[in-house]
Amino acid sequence: MTDHQKVERDAAAMVNDEGGFPEQQQQPPGLTAEMTPVPDHGEESWVGNNRLEGLKALITGGDSGIGRAVAIAFAREGCDVAINYLEAERPDAEETKRWVEQAGRKCVLVPADLTQESAARGMVHDATAQLGGLDILVNNAGYQWARREEGLASVTTEQMDRVFKTNLYALFWVTQEAMCHLHKGSSIINVSSIQAYDPSVSLSDYASTKAAINNFTANLAAELGPKGIRVNAVAPGPIWTPLQPATKGGDSMPGFGSDTPLGRAGQPAELAGAFVYLASPREASYVTGTVIGVTGGKAVF
Ligand code: NAD
Ligand code: MG
Repeated sequence: MTDHQKVERDAAAMVNDEGGFPEQQQQPPGLTAEMTPVPDHGEESWVGNNRLEGLKALITGGDSGIGRAVAIAFAREGCDVAINYLEAERPDAEETKRWVEQAGRKCVLVPADLTQESAARGMVHDATAQLGGLDILVNNAGYQWARREEGLASVTTEQMDRVFKTNLYALFWVTQEAMCHLHKGSSIINVSSIQAYDPSVSLSDYASTKAAINNFTANLAAELGPKGIRVNAVAPGPIWTPLQPATKGGDSMPGFGSDTPLGRAGQPAELAGAFVYLASPREASYVTGTVIGVTGGKAVF
């Protein structure tokens, strides 16, 4: 059986009789070990091929979900990794570190709440100092809150602050600091969402930030192109990560992802290839200012 067939088999096995995941609820930020089933981050399937040999990457939200899958793949491709996360996620961060080190690469843990400007800015320099340089920045941390009461009237300022600061302010702060260290051949990968193209009424604040991230990606690519630094984004569709049971009603998990053309949610492991490709100075040398959709078939154009 090929690795691809194994991922397909495992993904199918995870789906319960109703065609989705068991009903379950967590509080944000959510932890991997409390999920049923635990997501696939490529632990058993990603095969490295030295595509990022000798590079150094900072991945925000690298403890779990998509960020963990990227950390594992990057490490197996020969890249040292720093991961940022919230202190409450330490068990997840330790687990990601274990996988990176098992791949023979260095893993630096730099916890910081990115909604706090000085902590966000300081984290980048801390990570870079411990890594001994920086070649790749993955702006992956994100927050959403799916409201039960749909509609603009139910959006609170407190909720907007958390969503906009995590997804947008932090993106600007972290990127500004990283630009001091990035150089010709480096790249930045932002994490957008299908919500930028097909927004849900219950996520209007979150969806707005993801549309802004696309715009920021194109703009920064124009600014940094002359310096030889590429800037791209990945737009995931519905992916089985702690974010989902932690920020949506637990009763929506059984149907999660079933409205895609492929009829199921994706696993974090299924995102890693897009990130490795965009990070690769050889393979994506002429790719900047674009967004790759990994959505199970929902259109990103
Ligand atoms: P996840 O919960 O595993 O990862 C999100 C991470 O964001 C957390 O691990 C946490 O470390 C980090 N984070 C949140 N608030 C933070 C803060 N204040 N300070 C520092 N870190 C903070 O979930 P995920 O789905 O892997 O999310 C990764 C990215 O993918 C996010 O940007 C999310 O918006 C995006 N995304 C996810 C989906 C999906 O269906 N899971 C779909 C589209 C886009
Ligand atoms: Mg997490």
